[in-house]
Amino acid sequence: MAVNKQIVLDSRPTDKVSASHFRAVEAPMPKAGEGEFVVRQHYLSLDPYMRGRLSDAKSYAKPQEVGAVMGGGSVGEIVESKNPKFKVGDHVVGPGGWQMFAKGDGLGWNVVDASHIPLQAYVGVVGMPGATAWYGLNEIIKPKAGETVVVSAASGAVGGVVGQLAKLKGAKVVGIAGGKEKCGYVQGELGFDACVDHRSANFGDEMKAALPNGVDGLFENVGGEPFLQTLKRLNDFARIAICGLIASYEAAPTALPDMRIFLVRRIKIEGFIVSDHLNLWPKALGEIGGLVASGKLKYRETVREGLEAAPQGLVDLLSGGNFGKMLVKLV
Ligand code: NDP
Repeated sequence: MAVNKQIVLDSRPTDKVSASHFRAVEAPMPKAGEGEFVVRQHYLSLDPYMRGRLSDAKSYAKPQEVGAVMGGGSVGEIVESKNPKFKVGDHVVGPGGWQMFAKGDGLGWNVVDASHIPLQAYVGVVGMPGATAWYGLNEIIKPKAGETVVVSAASGAVGGVVGQLAKLKGAKVVGIAGGKEKCGYVQGELGFDACVDHRSANFGDEMKAALPNGVDGLFENVGGEPFLQTLKRLNDFARIAICGLIASYEAAPTALPDMRIFLVRRIKIEGFIVSDHLNLWPKALGEIGGLVASGKLKYRETVREGLEAAPQGLVDLLSGGNFGKMLVKLV
């Protein structure tokens, strides 16, 4: 009998997540009921938000259930359908989770065109991370030509797009990334004006040197030291988009400095969750898709092979073991 391989959450991590918090299981192959379809999954998306879902603390989304298939975005191809809007052979993006085959009823799934843009990019640059970059930059930071924008986790799925979009708007863009290789890519390939290595012993001095005109916009993906060093350089009326705080997903939260800085420099600071703004995704992804298809926007992927690689892939993503969008290739 054909089986569907799956990965379920076995127990909740209390400290750092490890692959042992997950378990591989086998289930019967899904069958499409009326209005449903079955997707053969090609790629799973690994995303930092998944760490938050492993906890049952109150958050903006429901926690991942212990014993259930680990949730997450995916792309694949429809192999069976009893839903007239989804045909066999269609490529789709949706909430397929960590399993070889997923069943959908249309909710959260979209047909995508993989003829000009690779299928897996629909969970990356032209998917949720791309929409996140677009939203925080255009709706919160709103950079003007000549202003300076700082982006942390600059080589990553979100950060790489933020910086390139900000450059297209005429801003000066300074990235923060971990290590020489990532910084070299951010500056050399993605075209940022500068990139500072947050692992450097002289990180604070290097940030100061890279920001002679201060900071007008901060796209915050990390928190911790990168955030605190950038705060020191804020100009009057700077805007901060709080997108993510990955440095504290498995560690103590970043303690805020004296709040006076926000008052005297008249700073706007706004957190956001991209799924609250689904109405803007078509606009955002249309724009990014055009830039990707014409080669004006670059991105990079780290691809792990096989379903069983997903748990360790998530662990590695949370400690910078990815270089660009973290994916698991299933077929
Ligand atoms: P990335 O591809 O950027 O991967 C995560 C990166 O974070 C790592 O590669 C690493 O880069 C960096 N990092 C991890 N730990 C630390 C640390 N302690 N200090 C400094 N850097 C660290 O992931 P995404 O692009 O998918 O996500 C980026 C951020 O955006 C995350 O915080 C995520 O939670 C957030 N996000 C928020 C959304 C929203 O709606 N608000 C939606 C999507 C993402 P390096 O090696 O360079 O340090």
